[in-house]
Amino acid sequence: MKKYDYLIVGSGLFGSVFAERATSKGKRCLIIEKRKHLGGNIYTEKIEGITVHKYGAHIFHTSDERVWEYINHFAEFNNFINSPVANYKGEIYNMPFNMNTFAKMFGVALPSEAKSIIDEQRKEITKTPENLEEQAISLVGREIYSKLIKGYTEKQWGRSCTELPPFIIKRLPVRYTYDNNYFNDKYQGIPIGGYSQIIEKMIRNCDVLSETDFFDDRNKYLSMADKCVYTGPIDAYFDYSLGALEYRSLRFETEILDTDNYQGVAVMNFNEREVPYTRIIEHKHFEFGTQEKTCITREYPQKWAMGLEPYYPVNDDKNNSLYEDYFKLAEKEKNVIFGGRLAQYKYYDMDKCIASSLAFSEKELG
Ligand code: FAD
Ligand code: UDP
Repeated sequence: MKKYDYLIVGSGLFGSVFAERATSKGKRCLIIEKRKHLGGNIYTEKIEGITVHKYGAHIFHTSDERVWEYINHFAEFNNFINSPVANYKGEIYNMPFNMNTFAKMFGVALPSEAKSIIDEQRKEITKTPENLEEQAISLVGREIYSKLIKGYTEKQWGRSCTELPPFIIKRLPVRYTYDNNYFNDKYQGIPIGGYSQIIEKMIRNCDVLSETDFFDDRNKYLSMADKCVYTGPIDAYFDYSLGALEYRSLRFETEILDTDNYQGVAVMNFNEREVPYTRIIEHKHFEFGTQEKTCITREYPQKWAMGLEPYYPVNDDKNNSLYEDYFKLAEKEKNVIFGGRLAQYKYYDMDKCIASSLAFSEKELG
C-alpha cells in the first residue's frame, strides 16, 4: 500500500481546498510546494503589524452561496469594499466606470447626460467586438478607453489592445449610478488576519514539503501516492512537448514608509503608459489599519520567461488552442487531476477556484 492517497503538487487555493476535503474524508495527503511558503498567490505575511498581500491585492468577492459558506469556516471577513481610484497623469477618477467617473470625465451630473455622450462615442464600433479595444470602446466610448484603459492594459499585458481578447475588459462593471464598488458580487471582504491562516487551517492534517519542486524527482513523488492533484503549469507537466504556453509575469516592489497614510486608498491604478507600474497597493487600508507606519507595494508587469512566476495566463486564441491540445494529453493521465489557474490555464478569481476545487473534490471523493 502506498503511503498517501493523494500527492498534491502546489499549496495554492486549489490544492489546499482539495486537501481539506480529502483529509476531512480520512484520506492521506502529501503536499509539495516549490516556494518557501504555502498558499500560492494568496500568501500574506505581517510587516509592521500590517497584513501584506505578497502577490498583489487579493479581495475576496463572490455571489456563490456555497463558496461563501465554505470559506467562512476558515476566517471571519471584514466589510472592506474595493473602491480603487485611477490616476491618469495626476487626474483622479473613480473606478469602476460609474457616474463618479463620468461626472469627472465629462462634467455631467445625470445618467442620461453620461449615456448620451458615451452612446455617441460607442457608435464607432458597428460590429461585434473582436478585440479588447473594440470591446472597450463599445462599452464606455473612446475617451475613457484612451485615458483609463489603453495605457493600463497595454502595460499590463505587454501587447496592443487590438491583439487582446475582449473578455478581459468585460470583467469590469459599467454603471450609470454613483457606486464605486469594483465588484457586483453579493459578498465581499478581506479575511481578518490574512489569507495564509486560511491555508494553514485547510492543510493542517496533511504532510507538507515546501521548497520542493515536483520536477526535481517526479517519479519518486508520483510513486508515493495512489493519485496526484497537479496545480502547476500544464505545459510544464508535459515537458513543453507541444510548445510553451504564454503567461504574463509581475514584479512586486514593497516599501515601508514612515507615514500613517500614504495614498488614502488600498488600490491606486496608474493608467498612463509612461508610469512603469500598474498599481500601488497600500495594504493597511484593506483592514482599516491604524498603525504608525505604512507598507506599499508597486506592481510592475513583466514579460514572462522560464524561471519567472507565471501569474496570468494569456487567454488569446493561439494559447487557448495550445491549451486544448495539452488538455487532450491530460485526459489520458488517469491518475492525475489537473486543477487551478495554471493547470487549467484559466483567469480564475479565488471564488471560482474554490468552486472548481470543490466540484473536483466531490467528483473524486464522493
Ligand atoms: P496558485 O496560487 O498559483 O498556486 C499554485 C501553486 O503551485 C503555487 O504555490 C506554486 O508555487 C506551486 N507550484 C507550481 N509548480 C510547482 C512544482 N513544479 N512543484 C511544486 N509546486 C509547484 N482573485 C480574487 O478573487 N480577487 C483578487 O483580488 C485577486 N487578485 C489577484 C491579483 C494578482 C496579482 C493575481 C496574480 C491573482 C489574483 N487573484 C485574485 C486570483 C487568485 O490569486 C487565484 O484565484 C488563486 O490564487 C488561484 O489558486 P491556484 O491554486 O489555482 O494557483
Ligand atoms: N483595466 C483597465 N484600467 C484599470 C483597471 C483595469 O484598463 O484601471 C483593465 C486591464 O486590461 C485589466 C482588466 O481591466 O487587465 C481587468 O482588471 P482587473 O482589475 O480585474 O485585473 P486583475 O486584478 O485581474 O489584474
